[in-house]
Amino acid sequence: MGRGRIVAVWTVVCIACIGLFSAAGYFIGSASIAAENRRQLDELNRLVLARSEHEIDFAFIALGELVEAGAAGCDAVSLGSMRRQVYVRSTIKDIRVIDAAGMVTCSAFPETQSFDSPSPLADRSVPSRVASIELSRIDQVSSVAVGVSWKVLPDLALTAVLSTDSLLFGALPPGLREGATMTLSLTNGDVVAGYGNTSESGLGEPQTSTFTSNSDRYPLSPQLRVEAASFDTWNRDSIIYFVASGAVLGLIFGLLLARLLTLPKSPLRELDDALAAGEFVPYMQPVFSLASGRIVGCEVLVRWHRQNGETVPPSRFITLVEQSDRIARLTHDLMTLALRELRPLIDRDPEFSVAFNIAPGHFLADGFSQSVEALVRTAGVRPSQIILELTERQELSDPVRAATLVLALRAKGFKIAIDDAGTGHSGLSTVKSLGAQILKIDKFFVDSILIDHSARVIVEMLVKVAHELQMTLVAEGIEKPEQMAWLKAAGVDDGQGYLVSPAVPIDKFLTLVDARNGIIGRPG
Ligand code: C2E
Ligand code: CA
Ligand code: CA
Repeated sequence: MGRGRIVAVWTVVCIACIGLFSAAGYFIGSASIAAENRRQLDELNRLVLARSEHEIDFAFIALGELVEAGAAGCDAVSLGSMRRQVYVRSTIKDIRVIDAAGMVTCSAFPETQSFDSPSPLADRSVPSRVASIELSRIDQVSSVAVGVSWKVLPDLALTAVLSTDSLLFGALPPGLREGATMTLSLTNGDVVAGYGNTSESGLGEPQTSTFTSNSDRYPLSPQLRVEAASFDTWNRDSIIYFVASGAVLGLIFGLLLARLLTLPKSPLRELDDALAAGEFVPYMQPVFSLASGRIVGCEVLVRWHRQNGETVPPSRFITLVEQSDRIARLTHDLMTLALRELRPLIDRDPEFSVAFNIAPGHFLADGFSQSVEALVRTAGVRPSQIILELTERQELSDPVRAATLVLALRAKGFKIAIDDAGTGHSGLSTVKSLGAQILKIDKFFVDSILIDHSARVIVEMLVKVAHELQMTLVAEGIEKPEQMAWLKAAGVDDGQGYLVSPAVPIDKFLTLVDARNGIIGRPG
Protein backbone atom coordinates (compact mmCIF):
# COMPACT_ATOMS: atom_id res chain seq x y z
CA MET A 1 0.00 0.00 0.00
CA GLY A 2 1.45 3.38 -1.00
CA ARG A 3 2.09 6.16 1.53
CA GLY A 4 -0.65 8.36 0.08
CA ARG A 5 -3.17 5.53 0.30
CA ILE A 6 -2.14 4.74 3.89
CA VAL A 7 -2.63 8.39 4.91
CA ALA A 8 -6.01 8.40 3.14
CA VAL A 9 -7.12 5.17 4.93
CA TRP A 10 -6.04 6.56 8.33
CA THR A 11 -7.84 9.87 7.72
CA VAL A 12 -11.07 8.37 6.41
CA VAL A 13 -11.23 5.61 9.06
CA CYS A 14 -10.49 8.02 11.95
CA ILE A 15 -12.98 10.65 10.79
CA ALA A 16 -15.67 8.01 10.18
CA CYS A 17 -15.10 6.42 13.62
CA ILE A 18 -15.11 9.80 15.40
CA GLY A 19 -18.37 10.70 13.63
CA LEU A 20 -20.01 7.35 14.38
CA PHE A 21 -18.92 7.21 18.00
CA SER A 22 -19.89 10.88 18.59
CA ALA A 23 -23.34 10.16 17.17
CA ALA A 24 -23.58 7.06 19.38
CA GLY A 25 -22.45 9.20 22.36
CA TYR A 26 -25.16 11.71 21.50
CA PHE A 27 -27.91 9.08 21.39
CA ILE A 28 -26.71 7.22 24.47
CA GLY A 29 -26.32 10.57 26.28
CA SER A 30 -29.82 11.68 25.28
CA ALA A 31 -31.31 8.38 26.44
CA SER A 32 -29.48 8.35 29.76
CA ILE A 33 -30.22 12.04 30.46
CA ALA A 34 -33.91 11.35 29.74
CA ALA A 35 -33.84 8.30 32.04
CA GLU A 36 -32.11 10.28 34.79
CA ASN A 37 -34.62 13.13 34.35
CA ARG A 38 -37.52 10.70 34.67
CA ARG A 39 -35.97 9.20 37.79
CA GLN A 40 -35.49 12.65 39.34
CA LEU A 41 -39.05 13.72 38.54
CA ASP A 42 -40.48 10.49 39.98
CA GLU A 43 -38.44 11.14 43.09
CA LEU A 44 -39.72 14.72 43.25
CA ASN A 45 -43.29 13.51 42.98
CA ARG A 46 -42.80 11.06 45.85
CA LEU A 47 -41.19 13.84 47.91
CA VAL A 48 -44.19 16.11 47.46
CA LEU A 49 -46.52 13.27 48.41
CA ALA A 50 -44.53 12.50 51.56
CA ARG A 51 -44.48 16.18 52.51
CA SER A 52 -48.29 16.45 52.00
CA GLU A 53 -48.91 13.27 54.02
CA HIS A 54 -46.83 14.69 56.86
CA GLU A 55 -48.83 17.90 56.95
CA ILE A 56 -52.09 15.94 57.08
CA ASP A 57 -50.57 13.76 59.78
CA PHE A 58 -49.82 16.92 61.80
CA ALA A 59 -53.41 18.17 61.34
CA PHE A 60 -54.67 14.72 62.41
CA ILE A 61 -52.46 14.85 65.52
CA ALA A 62 -53.69 18.36 66.33
CA LEU A 63 -57.33 17.22 66.04
CA GLY A 64 -56.47 14.08 68.07
CA GLU A 65 -55.06 16.17 70.87
CA LEU A 66 -58.27 18.26 70.95
CA VAL A 67 -60.49 15.16 70.97
CA GLU A 68 -58.38 13.56 73.67
CA ALA A 69 -58.58 16.72 75.77
CA GLY A 70 -62.38 16.81 75.30
CA ALA A 71 -62.02 20.10 73.46
CA ALA A 72 -64.22 19.25 70.48
CA GLY A 73 -67.04 21.64 71.31
CA CYS A 74 -67.96 25.27 70.99
CA ASP A 75 -67.30 26.21 74.63
CA ALA A 76 -64.70 28.83 75.42
CA VAL A 77 -62.13 26.31 76.72
CA SER A 78 -62.44 24.17 73.59
CA LEU A 79 -62.17 27.20 71.31
CA GLY A 80 -59.14 28.35 73.30
CA SER A 81 -57.48 24.93 72.79
CA MET A 82 -58.30 25.09 69.08
CA ARG A 83 -56.78 28.56 68.77
CA ARG A 84 -53.67 27.28 70.53
CA GLN A 85 -53.36 24.39 68.02
CA VAL A 86 -53.74 26.87 65.11
CA TYR A 87 -51.07 29.01 66.65
CA VAL A 88 -48.67 26.10 67.18
CA ARG A 89 -49.11 24.43 63.75
CA SER A 90 -47.97 26.79 61.05
CA THR A 91 -49.92 25.19 58.18
CA ILE A 92 -53.28 25.04 60.04
CA LYS A 93 -55.27 28.22 59.32
CA ASP A 94 -58.36 27.41 61.37
CA ILE A 95 -60.11 24.59 63.23
CA ARG A 96 -63.88 24.35 62.89
CA VAL A 97 -66.64 22.37 64.58
CA ILE A 98 -69.08 20.91 62.06
CA ASP A 99 -72.62 19.69 62.71
CA ALA A 100 -74.47 16.71 61.21
CA ALA A 101 -75.60 18.84 58.25
CA GLY A 102 -72.01 19.71 57.46
CA MET A 103 -72.43 23.31 58.58
CA VAL A 104 -69.87 25.15 60.70
CA THR A 105 -71.14 25.49 64.28
CA CYS A 106 -68.18 27.43 65.57
CA SER A 107 -64.51 27.88 64.79
CA ALA A 108 -61.22 28.93 66.35
CA PHE A 109 -61.07 32.03 64.17
CA PRO A 110 -64.63 32.60 62.86
CA GLU A 111 -63.57 35.55 60.72
CA THR A 112 -61.61 33.22 58.41
CA GLN A 113 -64.93 31.87 57.13
CA SER A 114 -65.58 35.14 55.43
CA PHE A 115 -62.64 34.28 53.12
CA ASP A 116 -64.19 30.96 52.12
CA SER A 117 -66.12 30.59 48.93
CA PRO A 118 -69.68 29.57 49.67
CA SER A 119 -69.53 25.84 48.80
CA PRO A 120 -70.61 23.60 51.68
CA LEU A 121 -67.64 21.77 53.14
CA ALA A 122 -69.05 18.28 53.26
CA ASP A 123 -70.26 18.23 49.68
CA ARG A 124 -67.21 16.78 48.01
CA SER A 125 -65.26 15.31 50.87
CA VAL A 126 -63.29 12.15 50.17
CA PRO A 127 -62.83 9.39 52.75
CA SER A 128 -59.38 8.10 53.54
CA ARG A 129 -58.05 4.74 54.67
CA VAL A 130 -57.51 6.19 58.13
CA ALA A 131 -60.84 5.61 59.84
CA SER A 132 -63.08 8.63 60.25
CA ILE A 133 -60.72 11.05 58.42
CA GLU A 134 -62.00 12.80 55.30
CA LEU A 135 -60.33 15.34 53.05
CA SER A 136 -62.05 18.06 51.07
CA ARG A 137 -61.17 21.08 49.04
CA ILE A 138 -61.95 24.44 50.57
CA ASP A 139 -62.12 27.28 48.07
CA GLN A 140 -60.93 30.53 49.48
CA VAL A 141 -60.93 34.03 48.09
CA SER A 142 -57.38 34.05 46.86
CA SER A 143 -56.27 30.47 47.38
CA VAL A 144 -57.30 26.92 48.02
CA ALA A 145 -57.05 24.95 51.25
CA VAL A 146 -57.59 21.34 52.31
CA GLY A 147 -60.10 20.49 54.96
CA VAL A 148 -58.99 17.60 57.19
CA SER A 149 -62.15 16.41 58.96
CA TRP A 150 -62.35 13.96 61.84
CA LYS A 151 -65.79 12.65 62.59
CA VAL A 152 -65.71 12.66 66.37
CA LEU A 153 -69.37 11.70 66.77
CA PRO A 154 -72.06 10.88 64.17
CA ASP A 155 -73.29 14.46 64.39
CA LEU A 156 -69.99 16.17 65.22
CA ALA A 157 -66.81 16.64 63.25
CA LEU A 158 -63.69 18.70 63.67
CA THR A 159 -62.14 20.20 60.53
CA ALA A 160 -58.67 21.63 60.32
CA VAL A 161 -58.28 24.09 57.43
CA LEU A 162 -54.85 23.36 56.04
CA SER A 163 -52.87 25.78 53.91
CA THR A 164 -51.45 24.03 50.85
CA ASP A 165 -49.22 26.89 49.65
CA SER A 166 -46.09 25.49 51.23
CA LEU A 167 -46.65 21.89 50.10
CA LEU A 168 -45.51 22.47 46.53
CA PHE A 169 -43.53 25.63 46.96
CA GLY A 170 -40.02 25.25 45.58
CA ALA A 171 -40.73 21.66 44.57
CA LEU A 172 -39.89 22.23 40.90
CA PRO A 173 -36.24 22.71 39.96
CA PRO A 174 -35.59 26.21 38.49
CA GLY A 175 -34.88 24.79 35.03
CA LEU A 176 -38.39 23.36 34.81
CA ARG A 177 -40.56 26.06 36.35
CA GLU A 178 -41.56 27.61 33.02
CA GLY A 179 -42.32 24.34 31.29
CA ALA A 180 -43.84 22.20 34.05
CA THR A 181 -46.84 22.16 36.34
CA MET A 182 -47.07 20.39 39.64
CA THR A 183 -50.54 19.86 41.11
CA LEU A 184 -51.83 18.14 44.19
CA SER A 185 -55.31 16.69 43.83
CA LEU A 186 -57.75 14.75 45.86
CA THR A 187 -58.75 11.46 44.32
CA ASN A 188 -62.11 12.95 43.29
CA GLY A 189 -60.14 15.26 40.97
CA ASP A 190 -60.35 18.40 43.10
CA VAL A 191 -57.05 20.25 42.73
CA VAL A 192 -55.88 21.53 46.09
CA ALA A 193 -52.49 23.01 45.17
CA GLY A 194 -50.56 24.05 42.07
CA TYR A 195 -47.05 25.22 41.33
CA GLY A 196 -44.95 26.05 38.30
CA ASN A 197 -46.49 27.20 35.05
CA THR A 198 -50.09 27.52 36.21
CA SER A 199 -50.74 30.51 33.94
CA GLU A 200 -54.00 30.89 32.01
CA SER A 201 -52.44 29.68 28.76
CA GLY A 202 -51.05 26.66 30.62
CA LEU A 203 -48.39 24.36 29.27
CA GLY A 204 -47.59 24.15 25.59
CA GLU A 205 -48.33 20.99 23.67
CA PRO A 206 -47.21 18.27 23.46
CA GLN A 207 -46.68 17.35 27.04
CA THR A 208 -44.27 14.54 26.98
CA SER A 209 -44.32 13.30 30.52
CA THR A 210 -46.82 12.99 33.32
CA PHE A 211 -45.69 11.72 36.69
CA THR A 212 -48.32 10.64 39.17
CA SER A 213 -48.24 8.91 42.51
CA ASN A 214 -50.91 7.96 45.01
CA SER A 215 -50.90 7.99 48.77
CA ASP A 216 -51.51 4.72 50.61
CA ARG A 217 -53.16 6.51 53.50
CA TYR A 218 -54.94 9.59 52.19
CA PRO A 219 -56.94 10.29 49.01
CA LEU A 220 -54.09 12.40 47.68
CA SER A 221 -52.34 12.35 44.35
CA PRO A 222 -49.60 14.72 43.22
CA GLN A 223 -49.16 15.08 39.49
CA LEU A 224 -46.30 16.57 37.54
CA ARG A 225 -46.69 17.44 33.86
CA VAL A 226 -43.70 18.52 31.78
CA GLU A 227 -43.64 20.05 28.32
CA ALA A 228 -41.71 18.06 25.71
CA ALA A 229 -39.37 20.94 24.95
CA SER A 230 -38.59 21.61 28.63
CA PHE A 231 -38.08 17.93 29.36
CA ASP A 232 -35.68 17.60 26.42
CA THR A 233 -33.58 20.61 27.39
CA TRP A 234 -33.50 20.00 31.14
CA ASN A 235 -30.07 18.82 32.39
CA ARG A 236 -28.96 18.84 28.77
CA ASP A 237 -25.58 20.43 29.46
CA SER A 238 -23.99 17.06 30.21
CA ILE A 239 -24.63 15.85 26.63
CA ILE A 240 -21.34 17.49 25.67
CA TYR A 241 -19.47 14.99 27.88
CA PHE A 242 -21.17 12.05 26.18
CA VAL A 243 -20.37 13.41 22.70
CA ALA A 244 -16.78 14.25 23.72
CA SER A 245 -16.29 10.76 25.24
CA GLY A 246 -17.73 9.24 22.06
CA ALA A 247 -15.32 11.29 19.94
CA VAL A 248 -12.31 10.21 22.04
CA LEU A 249 -13.36 6.56 21.92
CA GLY A 250 -13.99 6.92 18.18
CA LEU A 251 -10.51 8.31 17.70
CA ILE A 252 -8.93 5.45 19.66
CA PHE A 253 -11.01 2.85 17.82
CA GLY A 254 -10.30 4.56 14.49
CA LEU A 255 -6.55 4.54 15.12
CA LEU A 256 -6.62 0.83 16.02
CA LEU A 257 -8.79 -0.04 13.04
CA ALA A 258 -6.68 2.01 10.63
CA ARG A 259 -3.56 0.31 11.97
CA LEU A 260 -5.14 -3.09 11.43
CA LEU A 261 -6.23 -2.18 7.90
CA THR A 262 -2.86 -0.80 6.88
CA LEU A 263 -0.76 -3.48 8.54
CA PRO A 264 1.58 -4.95 5.90
CA LYS A 265 0.50 -8.40 4.76
CA SER A 266 2.63 -11.37 5.70
CA PRO A 267 4.66 -12.74 2.77
CA LEU A 268 2.63 -15.97 2.74
CA ARG A 269 -0.62 -14.03 2.72
CA GLU A 270 0.76 -11.99 -0.18
CA LEU A 271 1.56 -15.21 -2.05
CA ASP A 272 -1.91 -16.60 -1.45
CA ASP A 273 -3.57 -13.40 -2.59
CA ALA A 274 -1.33 -13.29 -5.67
CA LEU A 275 -2.15 -16.93 -6.51
CA ALA A 276 -5.85 -16.27 -6.08
CA ALA A 277 -5.64 -13.13 -8.22
CA GLY A 278 -3.65 -14.91 -10.96
CA GLU A 279 -0.70 -12.54 -10.63
CA PHE A 280 1.90 -15.20 -11.52
CA VAL A 281 2.38 -15.17 -15.28
CA PRO A 282 4.54 -17.21 -17.65
CA TYR A 283 7.42 -15.58 -19.53
CA MET A 284 9.08 -17.53 -22.30
CA GLN A 285 12.79 -17.65 -23.04
CA PRO A 286 13.62 -19.11 -26.45
CA VAL A 287 15.75 -22.23 -26.74
CA PHE A 288 17.57 -22.17 -30.07
CA SER A 289 19.61 -24.62 -32.10
CA LEU A 290 23.29 -23.72 -31.99
CA ALA A 291 23.68 -25.23 -35.48
CA SER A 292 20.91 -23.31 -37.25
CA GLY A 293 20.05 -20.50 -34.84
CA ARG A 294 16.41 -21.53 -35.14
CA ILE A 295 14.11 -21.36 -32.08
CA VAL A 296 13.23 -24.96 -31.26
CA GLY A 297 11.41 -24.42 -28.02
CA CYS A 298 11.25 -22.30 -24.92
CA GLU A 299 11.70 -22.42 -21.20
CA VAL A 300 8.77 -21.08 -19.18
CA LEU A 301 9.99 -18.80 -16.38
CA VAL A 302 7.57 -17.37 -13.87
CA ARG A 303 7.12 -13.64 -13.22
CA TRP A 304 4.97 -12.00 -10.56
CA HIS A 305 2.94 -9.13 -12.01
CA ARG A 306 2.02 -7.18 -8.89
CA GLN A 307 -0.99 -4.90 -8.82
CA ASN A 308 1.29 -1.89 -8.36
CA GLY A 309 2.74 -2.59 -11.83
CA GLU A 310 5.98 -4.14 -10.56
CA THR A 311 7.29 -7.29 -12.26
CA VAL A 312 9.02 -9.44 -9.64
CA PRO A 313 11.65 -12.04 -10.72
CA PRO A 314 11.45 -15.57 -9.26
CA SER A 315 14.65 -15.14 -7.25
CA ARG A 316 12.61 -12.99 -4.83
CA PHE A 317 9.79 -15.46 -4.14
CA ILE A 318 10.33 -18.93 -5.59
CA THR A 319 12.16 -20.29 -2.51
CA LEU A 320 9.26 -19.23 -0.26
CA VAL A 321 6.76 -20.71 -2.70
CA GLU A 322 8.67 -24.02 -2.74
CA GLN A 323 9.11 -24.14 1.03
CA SER A 324 5.50 -23.32 1.83
CA ASP A 325 3.91 -26.07 -0.29
CA ARG A 326 2.41 -23.61 -2.72
CA ILE A 327 4.65 -24.72 -5.56
CA ALA A 328 2.21 -27.39 -6.80
CA ARG A 329 -0.52 -24.78 -7.22
CA LEU A 330 1.83 -22.26 -8.83
CA THR A 331 3.29 -24.81 -11.27
CA HIS A 332 -0.16 -26.08 -12.17
CA ASP A 333 -1.50 -22.58 -12.86
CA LEU A 334 1.61 -21.58 -14.78
CA MET A 335 1.64 -24.69 -16.98
CA THR A 336 -2.07 -24.34 -17.74
CA LEU A 337 -1.67 -20.71 -18.75
CA ALA A 338 1.55 -21.20 -20.73
CA LEU A 339 0.19 -24.17 -22.69
CA ARG A 340 -2.99 -22.24 -23.50
CA GLU A 341 -0.93 -19.33 -24.82
CA LEU A 342 1.59 -21.50 -26.69
CA ARG A 343 -0.96 -23.94 -28.08
CA PRO A 344 -1.03 -22.46 -31.65
CA LEU A 345 2.75 -22.62 -31.85
CA ILE A 346 2.90 -26.14 -30.40
CA ASP A 347 0.25 -27.33 -32.85
CA ARG A 348 1.96 -25.66 -35.82
CA ASP A 349 5.43 -27.05 -35.07
CA PRO A 350 5.48 -30.65 -33.70
CA GLU A 351 9.22 -30.27 -33.02
CA PHE A 352 8.64 -27.30 -30.72
CA SER A 353 9.07 -28.17 -27.04
CA VAL A 354 8.15 -26.28 -23.89
CA ALA A 355 10.25 -26.68 -20.75
CA PHE A 356 8.92 -26.17 -17.22
CA ASN A 357 10.93 -25.97 -14.01
CA ILE A 358 9.77 -28.56 -11.49
CA ALA A 359 10.87 -28.29 -7.87
CA PRO A 360 12.34 -31.64 -6.68
CA GLY A 361 9.99 -31.82 -3.69
CA HIS A 362 7.00 -31.31 -5.96
CA PHE A 363 8.32 -33.89 -8.44
CA LEU A 364 8.51 -36.53 -5.68
CA ALA A 365 5.14 -35.62 -4.15
CA ASP A 366 2.31 -38.14 -4.46
CA GLY A 367 0.27 -37.86 -7.61
CA PHE A 368 2.69 -35.56 -9.45
CA SER A 369 2.92 -37.56 -12.67
CA GLN A 370 -0.84 -38.17 -12.80
CA SER A 371 -1.64 -34.48 -12.35
CA VAL A 372 0.91 -33.39 -14.97
CA GLU A 373 -0.43 -35.97 -17.39
CA ALA A 374 -4.01 -34.81 -16.78
CA LEU A 375 -3.01 -31.18 -17.19
CA VAL A 376 -1.22 -31.79 -20.49
CA ARG A 377 -4.08 -33.91 -21.78
CA THR A 378 -6.60 -31.20 -20.87
CA ALA A 379 -4.40 -28.64 -22.63
CA GLY A 380 -4.53 -30.80 -25.76
CA VAL A 381 -0.75 -31.04 -26.05
CA ARG A 382 1.37 -34.11 -26.75
CA PRO A 383 3.63 -35.07 -23.79
CA SER A 384 6.51 -35.41 -26.28
CA GLN A 385 6.50 -31.61 -26.60
CA ILE A 386 6.83 -31.11 -22.85
CA ILE A 387 10.15 -31.00 -20.99
CA LEU A 388 10.22 -31.25 -17.21
CA GLU A 389 13.39 -29.65 -15.78
CA LEU A 390 14.71 -31.02 -12.49
CA THR A 391 17.36 -28.86 -10.91
CA GLU A 392 20.52 -30.28 -9.51
CA ARG A 393 20.85 -27.36 -7.10
CA GLN A 394 18.42 -29.00 -4.68
CA GLU A 395 18.88 -32.55 -3.54
CA LEU A 396 16.47 -35.23 -4.73
CA SER A 397 15.62 -36.80 -1.38
CA ASP A 398 14.81 -40.17 -2.94
CA PRO A 399 16.95 -40.70 -6.10
CA VAL A 400 15.65 -44.25 -6.63
CA ARG A 401 12.02 -43.18 -6.60
CA ALA A 402 12.96 -40.19 -8.78
CA ALA A 403 14.50 -42.54 -11.37
CA THR A 404 11.36 -44.70 -11.33
CA LEU A 405 9.19 -41.62 -11.85
CA VAL A 406 11.41 -40.44 -14.70
CA LEU A 407 11.05 -43.82 -16.34
CA ALA A 408 7.26 -43.73 -15.97
CA LEU A 409 7.01 -40.20 -17.35
CA ARG A 410 9.29 -41.04 -20.25
CA ALA A 411 7.07 -43.99 -21.02
CA LYS A 412 4.18 -41.55 -21.35
CA GLY A 413 6.20 -39.45 -23.78
CA PHE A 414 7.46 -36.65 -21.52
CA LYS A 415 11.06 -35.45 -21.74
CA ILE A 416 13.09 -34.94 -18.57
CA ALA A 417 15.98 -32.49 -18.28
CA ILE A 418 18.64 -32.14 -15.60
CA ASP A 419 18.85 -28.42 -14.91
CA ASP A 420 21.91 -26.55 -13.64
CA ALA A 421 24.10 -29.59 -14.31
CA GLY A 422 27.48 -29.53 -12.59
CA THR A 423 26.43 -27.13 -9.83
CA GLY A 424 24.54 -29.48 -7.56
CA HIS A 425 24.70 -32.23 -5.06
CA SER A 426 24.63 -35.34 -7.12
CA GLY A 427 27.40 -35.14 -9.65
CA LEU A 428 27.73 -37.34 -12.67
CA SER A 429 26.41 -40.49 -11.04
CA THR A 430 22.92 -38.99 -10.77
CA VAL A 431 23.09 -37.80 -14.35
CA LYS A 432 23.61 -41.41 -15.28
CA SER A 433 21.12 -43.02 -12.92
CA LEU A 434 18.19 -40.60 -13.26
CA GLY A 435 17.57 -41.46 -16.90
CA ALA A 436 16.90 -37.91 -18.15
CA GLN A 437 17.17 -37.12 -21.88
CA ILE A 438 18.40 -33.53 -21.66
CA LEU A 439 21.32 -31.97 -19.79
CA LYS A 440 21.30 -28.23 -19.20
CA ILE A 441 24.69 -26.64 -18.63
CA ASP A 442 24.44 -23.85 -16.09
CA LYS A 443 25.08 -20.21 -16.91
CA PHE A 444 27.87 -20.31 -14.31
CA PHE A 445 30.06 -22.46 -16.66
CA VAL A 446 28.97 -20.64 -19.82
CA ASP A 447 30.04 -17.35 -18.23
CA SER A 448 33.52 -18.78 -17.62
CA ILE A 449 34.39 -20.78 -20.71
CA LEU A 450 36.13 -17.90 -22.47
CA ILE A 451 38.30 -17.05 -19.47
CA ASP A 452 38.64 -20.15 -17.34
CA HIS A 453 40.29 -23.37 -18.53
CA SER A 454 38.75 -25.53 -15.80
CA ALA A 455 35.23 -24.38 -16.83
CA ARG A 456 36.00 -25.53 -20.36
CA VAL A 457 37.20 -28.90 -19.00
CA ILE A 458 33.99 -29.41 -17.01
CA VAL A 459 31.80 -28.52 -19.99
CA GLU A 460 33.75 -30.88 -22.22
CA MET A 461 33.28 -33.60 -19.64
CA LEU A 462 29.54 -32.94 -19.44
CA VAL A 463 29.34 -33.09 -23.24
CA LYS A 464 31.16 -36.41 -23.22
CA VAL A 465 28.87 -37.95 -20.58
CA ALA A 466 25.75 -36.61 -22.30
CA HIS A 467 26.79 -38.08 -25.64
CA GLU A 468 27.51 -41.39 -24.02
CA LEU A 469 24.02 -41.41 -22.56
CA GLN A 470 22.45 -40.10 -25.79
CA MET A 471 21.34 -36.96 -24.03
CA THR A 472 20.68 -33.64 -25.74
CA LEU A 473 22.78 -30.73 -24.40
CA VAL A 474 21.41 -27.24 -23.77
CA ALA A 475 23.65 -24.39 -22.59
CA GLU A 476 22.08 -21.57 -20.53
CA GLY A 477 23.06 -17.92 -20.31
CA ILE A 478 24.72 -17.42 -23.68
CA GLU A 479 25.34 -13.72 -24.01
CA LYS A 480 28.20 -13.53 -26.54
CA PRO A 481 28.63 -14.95 -30.05
CA GLU A 482 32.06 -16.29 -28.97
CA GLN A 483 30.45 -18.36 -26.21
CA MET A 484 27.96 -19.71 -28.73
CA ALA A 485 30.72 -20.58 -31.18
CA TRP A 486 32.80 -22.39 -28.55
CA LEU A 487 29.77 -24.35 -27.21
CA LYS A 488 28.76 -25.33 -30.75
CA ALA A 489 32.28 -26.54 -31.47
CA ALA A 490 32.31 -28.47 -28.17
CA GLY A 491 29.24 -30.41 -29.27
CA VAL A 492 26.43 -28.63 -27.39
CA ASP A 493 23.15 -28.90 -29.30
CA ASP A 494 20.95 -26.02 -28.16
CA GLY A 495 21.30 -22.79 -26.23
CA GLN A 496 19.45 -20.17 -24.26
CA GLY A 497 20.54 -16.68 -23.45
CA TYR A 498 20.31 -12.94 -23.86
CA LEU A 499 22.22 -13.26 -27.11
CA VAL A 500 18.89 -14.25 -28.62
CA SER A 501 16.42 -13.04 -26.00
CA PRO A 502 15.68 -12.90 -22.29
CA ALA A 503 12.42 -14.39 -21.05
CA VAL A 504 9.58 -12.34 -22.53
CA PRO A 505 5.76 -12.29 -22.39
CA ILE A 506 3.87 -14.47 -24.87
CA ASP A 507 3.11 -11.81 -27.51
CA LYS A 508 6.75 -10.74 -27.72
CA PHE A 509 7.84 -14.36 -27.79
CA LEU A 510 5.50 -15.22 -30.69
CA THR A 511 6.75 -12.18 -32.63
CA LEU A 512 10.32 -13.25 -31.94
CA VAL A 513 9.70 -16.83 -33.15
CA ASP A 514 7.97 -15.57 -36.29
CA ALA A 515 10.77 -13.10 -37.05
CA ARG A 516 13.64 -15.46 -36.34
CA ASN A 517 12.29 -18.73 -37.70
CA GLY A 518 10.76 -16.92 -40.67
CA ILE A 519 14.14 -15.62 -41.73
CA ILE A 520 15.97 -18.85 -41.02
CA GLY A 521 13.26 -21.01 -42.56
CA ARG A 522 12.01 -24.42 -41.63
CA PRO A 523 14.47 -27.25 -41.22
CA GLY A 524 14.84 -29.17 -44.39
P1 C2E B 1 16.88 -21.46 -14.21
O1 C2E B 1 15.91 -22.56 -14.35
O2 C2E B 1 18.32 -21.80 -14.23
O3 C2E B 1 16.51 -20.40 -15.30
C1 C2E B 1 17.45 -19.71 -16.02
C2 C2E B 1 17.63 -18.36 -15.43
O4 C2E B 1 18.69 -17.72 -16.07
C3 C2E B 1 16.41 -17.47 -15.63
O5 C2E B 1 16.33 -16.59 -14.58
C4 C2E B 1 16.79 -16.73 -16.90
O6 C2E B 1 16.09 -15.50 -17.04
C5 C2E B 1 18.25 -16.52 -16.66
N1 C2E B 1 18.94 -16.32 -17.90
C6 C2E B 1 18.79 -17.01 -19.06
N2 C2E B 1 19.67 -16.55 -19.99
C7 C2E B 1 20.38 -15.56 -19.40
C8 C2E B 1 21.45 -14.71 -19.84
O7 C2E B 1 21.91 -14.74 -20.97
N3 C2E B 1 21.95 -13.81 -18.95
C9 C2E B 1 21.48 -13.73 -17.70
N4 C2E B 1 22.02 -12.84 -16.88
N5 C2E B 1 20.48 -14.53 -17.24
C10 C2E B 1 19.93 -15.42 -18.09
P2 C2E B 1 15.01 -16.33 -13.86
O8 C2E B 1 13.90 -16.28 -14.82
O9 C2E B 1 15.24 -15.16 -12.97
O10 C2E B 1 14.79 -17.62 -12.99
C11 C2E B 1 15.61 -17.89 -11.95
C12 C2E B 1 15.36 -19.25 -11.45
O11 C2E B 1 14.08 -19.33 -10.82
C13 C2E B 1 15.31 -20.31 -12.50
O12 C2E B 1 16.62 -20.68 -12.84
C14 C2E B 1 14.55 -21.40 -11.82
O13 C2E B 1 15.39 -22.15 -10.98
C15 C2E B 1 13.61 -20.63 -10.97
N6 C2E B 1 12.30 -20.59 -11.64
C16 C2E B 1 11.89 -19.74 -12.59
N7 C2E B 1 10.61 -20.05 -12.93
C17 C2E B 1 10.27 -21.12 -12.19
C18 C2E B 1 9.10 -21.92 -12.08
O14 C2E B 1 8.09 -21.71 -12.77
N8 C2E B 1 9.12 -22.96 -11.21
C19 C2E B 1 10.21 -23.23 -10.45
N9 C2E B 1 10.15 -24.27 -9.59
N10 C2E B 1 11.32 -22.51 -10.51
C20 C2E B 1 11.35 -21.46 -11.38
CA1 CA C 1 15.46 -24.14 -15.73
CA1 CA D 1 20.28 -22.66 -14.57
